[in-house]
Amino acid sequence: MSAALVGLGRKSGRPVAGSFVLESFAYAHELRHRACLRAPIRKERAPVVVVGGGVAGLSAAWRMARRGFRDFVVLELERDAGGNARWGENEISAYPWAAHYLPLPGANAPLVRELCEELGLLRGGVWDERHLCHSPRERLFLHGRWQEGLEPEVAATARDRAEFHRFQERMREFRASGEFTVPMERGARPSPLDRLSMGAWMREQGFASPYLRWYADYCCRDDYGASAEATSAWAGIHYFASREAAEPGPLTWPEGNGWIVRRLLDRLAPYVRTNAMVYSIRRDGRRWRVTTEAAEYLAGHVIFAAPTFLAHYIVEGAPEAKGFEYSPWVVANLTLDRPPREHNSEPAWDNVIYGSPSLGYVVATHQNLVARPGRSVWTCYWALAREDPAVARRRLLAAAWDDWKEAILNDLARAHPDIRECVTRVDVLRLGHAMIWPSVGFLFSEERRRWAALSGTLLYANSDLSGLSLFEEAQYRGVRAADAVLGRLGRT
Ligand SMILES: Cc1cc2nc3c(=O)[nH]c(=O)nc-3n(C[C@H](O)[C@H](O)[C@H](O)COP(=O)(O)OP(=O)(O)OC[C@H]3O[C@@H](n4cnc5c(N)ncnc54)[C@H](O)[C@@H]3O)c2cc1C
Repeated sequence: MSAALVGLGRKSGRPVAGSFVLESFAYAHELRHRACLRAPIRKERAPVVVVGGGVAGLSAAWRMARRGFRDFVVLELERDAGGNARWGENEISAYPWAAHYLPLPGANAPLVRELCEELGLLRGGVWDERHLCHSPRERLFLHGRWQEGLEPEVAATARDRAEFHRFQERMREFRASGEFTVPMERGARPSPLDRLSMGAWMREQGFASPYLRWYADYCCRDDYGASAEATSAWAGIHYFASREAAEPGPLTWPEGNGWIVRRLLDRLAPYVRTNAMVYSIRRDGRRWRVTTEAAEYLAGHVIFAAPTFLAHYIVEGAPEAKGFEYSPWVVANLTLDRPPREHNSEPAWDNVIYGSPSLGYVVATHQNLVARPGRSVWTCYWALAREDPAVARRRLLAAAWDDWKEAILNDLARAHPDIRECVTRVDVLRLGHAMIWPSVGFLFSEERRRWAALSGTLLYANSDLSGLSLFEEAQYRGVRAADAVLGRLGRT
């Protein structure tokens, strides 16, 4: 991709350092042909092997350890565990590499509440305010100025406002139906809403306000990496109807959900092996041979918490995971040695530019207790949601770091004309299969149901089985698989 393809011109400015980071996908692509992978010398027995050390795999481990069972290993491809909840750190602040917040769990999410209590976030039913997102939480740059909140208000007409009101009423009804829960499996029932897109549903309902349509599209891109026209209406509605309309959250930290991963690793580090890509899982009688370049594990049970589409390349006899499509994303961390000049507005935690192809940025130093820190790290999110994921993925890999750096700085310059005077470094992470895309018909498909069913001694557990890429879904899938294994081992 050239800068022209991003639709933005190049501008000169102060030199900016940076590079692509955490580029392990080339190694992971070896899974397709395996020719370059070494056969392991070491052999180990492990009653339970967890493949993948993201939130789902770590949650499976957390559950087993909480139940007093520790005969397991977690095998993680990357140098660090965490998956989409990984984080980085520089001399200014820790910052997220993807997931950056956890909505306050409601009554339907007892597992998340249990974890929050264990981590001291929730005591006696009261949330620790230090971990709740500080004010101002969100702002939107629209028609040349910032406004508070993400629902467009500047220049909205009475008709736009009436549509927003009607939309919220519809979401209140959906919320009251009890169908839209987190985790989704608790309430979800096969629904005709999964057979049309969010965009089509909005048209059907007569929602025509350009601001409301932008807002719904932004929310689909933000949560699913896909446009409203390409997202199941059930998933689009779930975004609004699965949580309380007003809550004091979310929970957030400089390193995003890495804060939680850090604490899980405090408890689980001895069981987690990193730089351990599993490249083959084969049957051996009633057991499984789980192979990495360093060791081969003979396991009674396997919890496969890596993305499900990889099973076809790794697990003997596993078919292609049809219908599992993933949206590509770019995440960039920008180091700023001073904040841009602001007129009549205060930086928020989440900052969005109306009409931008990106999703805006979160400020890692926002949770600092210092009122206006000078230096900061901004995490910019960009889902390649405007085209077919396979085409977007090729574009993602073809573009140079400089192209992405320019695209991101030009995008931010719409709201911050002096951004180039503030930024010293732009590090860019390319995620080809960043998150599951709840395309029309996927959530209630037979295919998804089959992969999510827990049968046999190899159990699938990635959050993609929910069709919704959320911390709570990852935790639920991991814990559910762990409970099934513990049940079979007679350890409930
Ligand atoms: C840009 C972005 C922003 C997000 N923001 C949020 C947010 O703010 N809040 C939120 O709740 N959710 C967010 N999410 C969703 C996030 O995906 C989930 O919250 C959750 O972290 C997913 O966990 P997981 O374990 O299911 O999958 P993953 O995080 O994908 O974990 C899978 C793990 O398996 C490993 N693996 C893959 N192949 C192998 C192999 N062959 N051998 C061994 N290991 C392997 C991977 O390296 C990875 O660590 C975001 C996602 C993205 C991409």
